[in-house]
Amino acid sequence: MIYDYIIVGSGLGGLSAGLILQQKNFNVLILESHLKSGGCASDFARISKKNPVGKFIFDVGATTLSGLQNGRPLDKFLNLTGLKFKLKDKLIKQNTGLLIHLPNGNKIFRYADKEKWIDECLKKFITDYNSDYQKKNLIKFWNLVYKLEANAFKLTGKLKKFPPKKIYDFFNLPKNPANIKLLHYLFTDTYKILKKFNLHVNEDFMKFIEQQLLITFQSPPHKVPFLFAAMGLAYPSDTYYFKGGIQKFSQSIEDEFANSGGEIKFKHRVNQISFSDNTFQVTTFKGKFYARNVISNLTIWNMGEIVTDIKLKKYFENLKRNYSEAWGAFTLYIAVQDKFYDFDSLYHQIHYQSSINGNASIFVSISMKNDVEKSPNGWRTLTISTHLKNPEKWKEMESNEYIKNKKIITDEILNVLNSTFENFKNSEIKYLLSGTPKTFEFYTNRFNGFVGGIPSDISKNIFKFPSSFTPFKNLYMVGDSVFPGQGSPAVVLGAMNLTELIS
Ligand SMILES: Cc1cc2nc3c(=O)[nH]c(=O)nc-3n(C[C@H](O)[C@H](O)[C@H](O)COP(=O)(O)OP(=O)(O)OC[C@H]3O[C@@H](n4cnc5c(N)ncnc54)[C@H](O)[C@@H]3O)c2cc1C
Repeated sequence: MIYDYIIVGSGLGGLSAGLILQQKNFNVLILESHLKSGGCASDFARISKKNPVGKFIFDVGATTLSGLQNGRPLDKFLNLTGLKFKLKDKLIKQNTGLLIHLPNGNKIFRYADKEKWIDECLKKFITDYNSDYQKKNLIKFWNLVYKLEANAFKLTGKLKKFPPKKIYDFFNLPKNPANIKLLHYLFTDTYKILKKFNLHVNEDFMKFIEQQLLITFQSPPHKVPFLFAAMGLAYPSDTYYFKGGIQKFSQSIEDEFANSGGEIKFKHRVNQISFSDNTFQVTTFKGKFYARNVISNLTIWNMGEIVTDIKLKKYFENLKRNYSEAWGAFTLYIAVQDKFYDFDSLYHQIHYQSSINGNASIFVSISMKNDVEKSPNGWRTLTISTHLKNPEKWKEMESNEYIKNKKIITDEILNVLNSTFENFKNSEIKYLLSGTPKTFEFYTNRFNGFVGGIPSDISKNIFKFPSSFTPFKNLYMVGDSVFPGQGSPAVVLGAMNLTELIS
């Protein structure tokens, strides 16, 4: 049998592309190496056998969804695929999108409501509260962020080939002054804008912005185009918890795909993609599959190994060389008694000083109270992650060093949790598991455990950024290494843009 499309990998990119194409009546097969779908947006379970309390579900990486406001990528996707109504009771909007804990003990509430957030920001970052000049600048800055955020998604949605491959790709944009302004912000770095508003002199505010950009665009202000930064900085206004955990979101897409007639095969790790007689041959350890088109949900760093075409191999090897740096993640998964105070927020960014990571922050996601699909009543599950530089080092470490470093970071994070959440110390911990870049590579097959996509870098030529289109006709890519920007909304938008262009 020859499929219209074979999709390699069932991360959010592969699943969303698969569902859209299947709903357009193409014949689609998804091949996934793992036991379940989701990739970085998947989960794993632990069932307590000793003195049983039940089943705990841990999100492996992603924990939040964003881009669900009107016209944003996930909103569009759920409307397009008919999932919006089905999932409306599962998506729980967070009034505090993020609670940031600064080293000096200050807490910054990222309220979803724009006015409330600006007021909070003024209170927490303008120490000279009588300075009208500083206040006005901060208000202007946030107003610009919110205005751009709404338009940025429109721009990246309209520019179907985004990132663009040639200047010509900009030409299909309506030529109005608003779009020209947007393009200006695509080529202006965030530090310049902060400087324009004289905010660069506000040290606390700059540290806050740095950590916010790190969790969204993986780079500091001087490297992130302001257009992208606006999307990252506004995301806590649009943060959702998915009942039962993030894999249930992936699962809903998978189920809809299967209900539409799509086929998915698990434990099918693809090790070769070749092409002859106008047909792709996709090989796994369990067999060969054939298709007219292939969409790969693998990262650009993994592709060189599995394509057989020499030109294509070179293309991916070049990309691997040119984008050789990316972040890894250290993750901690905890099942803990619900006796600690969570400040009525599920998502926390805690800034701290790490002996391994220097100035760092951890992102703590807590399961919703009484979400019994995730943890038994009276218990919560936590996924905690922090950025790691040079993730490749973790697989080169000797076993003793690996264990030692894992313990150092785990202990540091536990200390941070104990000092941040009242009564955490006295809450029983049922499970405490950790993951390194090596673990991520093992489970998701992402080269070196590189996660979160390609760090933003304005100095690099945008026309050379990896994209969904490869030099090989009918071989395409989706996922976070071929679309600049934030996790789920970026990956889904990339899949929507691609499927619209090719079908
Ligand atoms: C710790 C962490 C926290 C994050 N937090 C958030 C968050 O809160 N919100 C958010 O929106 N984003 C978040 N992200 C980012 C987000 O999870 C990812 O950007 C997104 O899920 C990536 O999706 P993807 O489609 O690119 O691919 P992946 O998730 O990498 O999926 C690729 C799939 O392909 C499969 N695969 C790989 N190789 C093969 C092969 N050879 N054959 C067959 N199958 C294969 C893998 O098993 C996997 O299922 C986070 C990421 C991490 C790591």
